[in-house]
Amino acid sequence: MPGAPQTERPTSRSRKLHPRLESVFDTVVTRNPAEREFHEAVRGVLGTLGPVIERQPEYLEAKLVERICEPERQIIFRVPWTDDRGSVQVNRGYRVEFNGALGPFKGGLRFHPSVSSSIVKFLGFEQVFKNALTGLPLGGGKGGSDFDPKGRSEAEVMRFCQSFMSELHRHIGEYTDVPAGDAGVGEREIGFLFGQYRRITNRYESGTLTGKGLTWGGAQVRKEATGYGCAYFAEEMLRTQGSSLSGRTVTVSGSGNVAIYAIEKAQQLGGTVIGCSDSKGYVHDPAGLDVELVKQIKEVERGPLEDYATHRPGASFVPGARLWEVATEVALPCATQGELDADDARKLIESGTVLVVEGANMPCTPEAVGLLREGGVLFGPAKAANAGGVATSALEMQQNASRDSWTFEYTEHRLVEIMRDIHRSCYEMSGECGVPGDYVVGANNAAFVRVAEAMLAMGVT
Ligand code: GLU
Repeated sequence: MPGAPQTERPTSRSRKLHPRLESVFDTVVTRNPAEREFHEAVRGVLGTLGPVIERQPEYLEAKLVERICEPERQIIFRVPWTDDRGSVQVNRGYRVEFNGALGPFKGGLRFHPSVSSSIVKFLGFEQVFKNALTGLPLGGGKGGSDFDPKGRSEAEVMRFCQSFMSELHRHIGEYTDVPAGDAGVGEREIGFLFGQYRRITNRYESGTLTGKGLTWGGAQVRKEATGYGCAYFAEEMLRTQGSSLSGRTVTVSGSGNVAIYAIEKAQQLGGTVIGCSDSKGYVHDPAGLDVELVKQIKEVERGPLEDYATHRPGASFVPGARLWEVATEVALPCATQGELDADDARKLIESGTVLVVEGANMPCTPEAVGLLREGGVLFGPAKAANAGGVATSALEMQQNASRDSWTFEYTEHRLVEIMRDIHRSCYEMSGECGVPGDYVVGANNAAFVRVAEAMLAMGVT
């Protein structure tokens, strides 16, 4: 991209790097040129690690920060396939196995034209910390392709998935690397991927992929888990303030899997969700969204969100505009990275927003996060708030390993416990670091310590 910044430029609102970490960050930038999203994710974490580095200087001696910033393995491969017209198409596939100190590499696959080395690396890096926060035995990784599923027939999606797995199968397995879904990869794609994996390996190894269908090894609540987890995390944060979601206005950006179930749970917890969005604009429904109608349009018809307003009196669709212009008490960005910038943050602060919780991965720009902090808005970072999805993947792996299947109620109960534990670890760590209620500092330090301790125990690996 001509003119695109080559490095993450620290802004006036970036947290100061611990002097011992400056050269570590410089190496990351030099070694991964032009990978802006990855630089941003690393800068975000390194800028908060001061407290733990001061407390445990042995982490520096063991070069743990350097090691954590370098993926264990990166796989890039060609994905050739034939479209419905008989033309050969070529995409690029990725799997970044970032850190396996706590368990098999674990993280989703994203199929979207924006997927690049930088995006997969940033997501893999974040995943290491997110997975550590769950307290479950999970390493971190991420993968995907620049394949665009939009407008593709089911047969094309299947052929693409089969070609993708024809290479990926060599690298994954229940004890090595366990992919799942992410944007553009849902139960349908996991089915095609698992089918090809089983065919090539001649093994019914359920624990190799998560997000499977309920009749063939999938877990209850997996589909709902990221969105539900995000709403539960928001509720926990409000509880520390003696408050709750009940009676509050909420906006949720996006209308994909994460957004839909964040809306559903926020409503069940008593919030009034007055808006959601897609890439074309946003819906404003002051009476509260009809989530079943959103599901019908997005999950069943795979249509544009614009259709919502034609079916629902009192709701309007605002094309080409951003949801953050709607005044709300609670904002849950659940669409994609970089969707809430400094201007949006200013609007939210002016309109009296008290809480922003990230359901998507890194949806708020660093500048926006800084502004929210200065503006006194409580902020829940993605790696803590959206960990419910991967946590439920770990529950799916547990069920697969014991050839068992749990009820919806029991699985949701486990999810709630996990989200409360994540919240507690972040909150307590923020206090230990001297900034109670700063969940960014809390999440990064709590997660870093877990990964670092496991790596220290295992020697120089
Ligand atoms: N893609 C999801 C995430 O960002 C889920 C990963 C998984 O279940 O492995 O956490």
